[in-house]
Amino acid sequence: MSTIAENIAKVGKRIDAAMQAANRESSAVGLLAVSKTKPAEAIREAFSAGLRDFGENYLQEALDKQAQLQDLSLTWHFIGPIQSNKTRPIAEHFDWVHSVDRLKIAERLSAQRPAGLEPLNICLQVNVSGEDSKSGCSPEEVSGLAHAVTQLPNLRLRGLMAIPEPTDDPVQQRAAFAKLRTLQESLNLPLDTLSMGMSHDLEAAIAEGATWVRIGTALFGARDYSS
Ligand SMILES: *Cc1c(COP(=O)(O)O)cnc(C)c1O
Repeated sequence: MSTIAENIAKVGKRIDAAMQAANRESSAVGLLAVSKTKPAEAIREAFSAGLRDFGENYLQEALDKQAQLQDLSLTWHFIGPIQSNKTRPIAEHFDWVHSVDRLKIAERLSAQRPAGLEPLNICLQVNVSGEDSKSGCSPEEVSGLAHAVTQLPNLRLRGLMAIPEPTDDPVQQRAAFAKLRTLQESLNLPLDTLSMGMSHDLEAAIAEGATWVRIGTALFGARDYSS
């Protein structure tokens, strides 16, 4: 088995154990493989080991890898910060966007989604930890933004996403994820997605209802940003 295949098996065991501990059906959570900074070959290996959903943060890097992997049937998720002049290729080349945090971006994605493609699946990114993190709308803004996004014809609002401040304390991890779940419930919209949990905190996220865990390091190893 390749290292990536071994890592997928290990992460799968962690997910299964967490789902069992939470009394949830294991099919109720998806593993989104975060492949940013990793070569197309790593995605190919993960595909061979059964993964189909891949998350990317950097647009040009993602488009390059998509071009190299056209022979595979993959589902692409954009999970990074979005500049408004980059919305068109995102609307054209992705199936999901997890990082929408303002209406202007949502409006552009809807207007630029090509006719003939399914509506783009959207999660609103919420800044649940406050303070310095610049990405994500505030909890107070979510309701207005969510209801506005449901009116856009070529988007399908699926739920909320968060990247809480990193902490090793499982109590604090769960508190942040619980905040996202409670916010989602308070919207009274038919949403089915909570995109939360990464390599170090997927157990806490699953305990609070995650439906996508976004896993990079635990699948592909540490990232090298030096080159
Ligand atoms: C990089 C990244 C991840 C994966 O983080 P790991 O700690 O490597 O699992 C998940 N979500 C987002 C939005 C990311 O940018």
